[in-house]
Amino acid sequence: MQRTEISVLGEFGLIRYLTEKIELKNPSTVKGVGDDAAVLDYKSKQVLVTTDLLLEGVHFDLVYVPLKHLGYKSAIVNFSDIYAMNGKPKQITVSIGLSKRFCVEDLEEFYAGIQLACEEHGVDLVGGDTSASMTGLAISITCLGEGEKGKIVYRDGAKENDLICVSGNLGAAYMGLQLLEREKTVFAGKDKEEVQPDFDGKEYLLQRQLRPEARKDIIERLAEKGVVPTAMMDISDGLSSELMHICTQSKIGCRVYEDKIPIDYQTAMMAEEFNMNLVTAALNGGEDYELLFTVPLEFYDLMDNMEDVKIIGHICKEDMGYCLVTRDGQEFPLKAQGWNSLNE
Ligand code: ADP
Ligand code: MG
Repeated sequence: MQRTEISVLGEFGLIRYLTEKIELKNPSTVKGVGDDAAVLDYKSKQVLVTTDLLLEGVHFDLVYVPLKHLGYKSAIVNFSDIYAMNGKPKQITVSIGLSKRFCVEDLEEFYAGIQLACEEHGVDLVGGDTSASMTGLAISITCLGEGEKGKIVYRDGAKENDLICVSGNLGAAYMGLQLLEREKTVFAGKDKEEVQPDFDGKEYLLQRQLRPEARKDIIERLAEKGVVPTAMMDISDGLSSELMHICTQSKIGCRVYEDKIPIDYQTAMMAEEFNMNLVTAALNGGEDYELLFTVPLEFYDLMDNMEDVKIIGHICKEDMGYCLVTRDGQEFPLKAQGWNSLNE
């Protein structure tokens, strides 16, 4: 592949090269890249702001993460935070620290991934910053979004008897990571031509880890039905940990039913292969970017019939604690990390 050193374009040339094809689509974007600051006009809407810092070696491993996927995922995880507030993402800024290892073509790939995510979610890239780095790639993305007054959903609004719902399925992204880590270890030091990693039948797990989706569709579906959740979060650190955030901030307890937790077939197969407890993986595996939300009991039928949404439990009084109810009716306290009871 062609390799153009960044010094050939220089910092300004690089920024121009990466951003010159950007077309702004949102009325709230008044000015994008090219001045000292972007200009936005949110009129009567409330503005949501979220930011994420991603460091090479800490948050991602370029041995198995293609740069286009990294760009896509870096943007998506921010959009997911805006959706989790019941908002719509509208603009992002992208700041990068680059070591000499990276060339213009690498950044082109990275920005292609960001642009793809932006197109899918109707977001404008409006600015950023670029700097040299001594220690690999650093990425900071800030996302702005709009929320309607009175319809923004916080973590602290869950009420007794509310239903606990999740979108999609859980644990797949974590299994994808385990799989990538295993193949990396197996193939370390071997001739790449000679042996290829074996991902047959596990494509979904890789996709969930490398190319996660932000659940715009669920937010739209809820709005269509006139449902405003009482509390909501996206699941980035695992269901168990996120549920505890909702419970502690809302000052309530919960019951979640083991047999209701949505798990994909490939996740289950992989857990068996790794000799891992499947429920533990689904409760504690991170990076699924599904939505966890609570709704009043009156929406039971609506939620029960909503595509790709599952009712997994209910909210109860604070003094009842946070528990997982197993298939045989036993209750185990949920822990924020490494739920060990099933492994004993
Ligand atoms: P300043 O010196 O004010 O920081 P820059 O030369 O860094 O200005 O940036 C010029 C313009 O390019 C600004 O609009 C800025 O938001 C944008 N920009 C800089 N780096 C990036 C980047 N990595 N991605 C997108 N836009 C960028
Ligand atoms: Mg700058």
